[in-house]
Amino acid sequence: MRRKRILLVNPWIEDFAAYDFWLKPVGLLYVGSFLKTLGLEVTLIDLMNRYDPELQSRVKVPRDKFYGTGKFPHVEIAKPPILSFMPRKYKRYGMPEELFREKLRRERENGVDAVFVTSTLTYWYPGYFDTISVIKEELDAPIFFGGFFVRNQPSVAKRSGTILFTHTDLRYLPRFLNRTLGWELPEVDIDWFTQLSPAYELYEKVGYVVLLTTLGCPYRCTYCIAHRNWERMRFKPVELVLEEIEKFSEILNVQDIVFFDDAILVNAENHFKPLLKEIIRRGLNKKLRFHLPNGIHARLLTQEIADLLYEANFKTIKLGYETAGKLQRTTGDKIRDEDLLRAARILKNAGFTHKEVSAYIMVNLPGQTVEDVMNAVDVCVDAGIDYSINEFTPIVGTDIWIELVNKGLLTGREDPLLLNNTVLPYWWKNMSVEQIQFLKEYGKIKKAELSL
Ligand code: SF4
Repeated sequence: MRRKRILLVNPWIEDFAAYDFWLKPVGLLYVGSFLKTLGLEVTLIDLMNRYDPELQSRVKVPRDKFYGTGKFPHVEIAKPPILSFMPRKYKRYGMPEELFREKLRRERENGVDAVFVTSTLTYWYPGYFDTISVIKEELDAPIFFGGFFVRNQPSVAKRSGTILFTHTDLRYLPRFLNRTLGWELPEVDIDWFTQLSPAYELYEKVGYVVLLTTLGCPYRCTYCIAHRNWERMRFKPVELVLEEIEKFSEILNVQDIVFFDDAILVNAENHFKPLLKEIIRRGLNKKLRFHLPNGIHARLLTQEIADLLYEANFKTIKLGYETAGKLQRTTGDKIRDEDLLRAARILKNAGFTHKEVSAYIMVNLPGQTVEDVMNAVDVCVDAGIDYSINEFTPIVGTDIWIELVNKGLLTGREDPLLLNNTVLPYWWKNMSVEQIQFLKEYGKIKKAELSL
């Protein structure tokens, strides 16, 4: 009897803009790994993999910008009716539909017993739904839908007509599949995060590998959901992280390793520092480049860690800064200006320049003034580090979202599409489109000072 075959699908993104800033469906790859340990055969279609070998012959794939990142191929599509007021083009990013259908037909020939579709940002759901519609047209298999959007917005996700999987602990998965499909999978006592690795072997080719060495964050920033995703912080054994780096860089022939942790510097003495030392001792820094794109904690950075980061060949270090002004204290107090300035100095001492180090600044936070953002830009310029200005989005379930609903500034029932950070300034009474545009211009002008 043939083994049951599961198809994993990383869906399209549909939005006004999207960029492959090291996006990989790591959660889905852990699901793949877990399903394999249950004895199932697993395959993957990643609609967002710019390195898919079949993509080049079908569509013009924009060239890489830096370290494996780059623009996605895309097509313009009709805006969802609720966004008809937006004066911008709406696009589908990722693999052309025809190629997706061809791949699904090939999967159908080999037999597919169930499909797992993942999700991330809530306002990307039209892309998830379109992906699911195509799967339904091509395959006659039950579709399981999971990931952040499904957990955060189950009532919207239900409209996809799929079976929702809303747990983060994969231990529930065998029982869930047995109950829904009448299968007889064994219950296994496996801790998916500390014992398994994301199933990168399912790819033929990728441009980089994204890994997680920790889960969760002990901070409680009012605009962030990370600390609600996991009850407590968890650490992957350093030895397993090293094994993942060595194995996947070798079999996929990549040079860029990206750590997407929310709080990689927490407990650094026992976790990140030993990892950095071992990367250096094994000579991995001689052949690989490493990146920290997820906003590390400036306050937790020490000179020793900065020196190790430099020696270990880290090429991207993002600092979570968010804003200047009193909001620093009222939104969670993870950082103050002096922390950023100190971290920038330490990193500079270690040998880094503004080409490797930059800070995230948020714009359009409730209660934030235009001056707060300008001051934040000025602090970064003074510190001699680069920065990127990103628009705030109120994530359902965060403290800030609850407060906005309590104050009547949001109803709490908004369609996730309206909470898209690009869309928000066009209807929500906080900063105006013009103010945000002004601040982005201000950021561009001040940036010129960095290359002096
Ligand atoms: S913003 Fe960063 S520090 Fe704050 S809770 Fe989220 S992950 Fe933690």
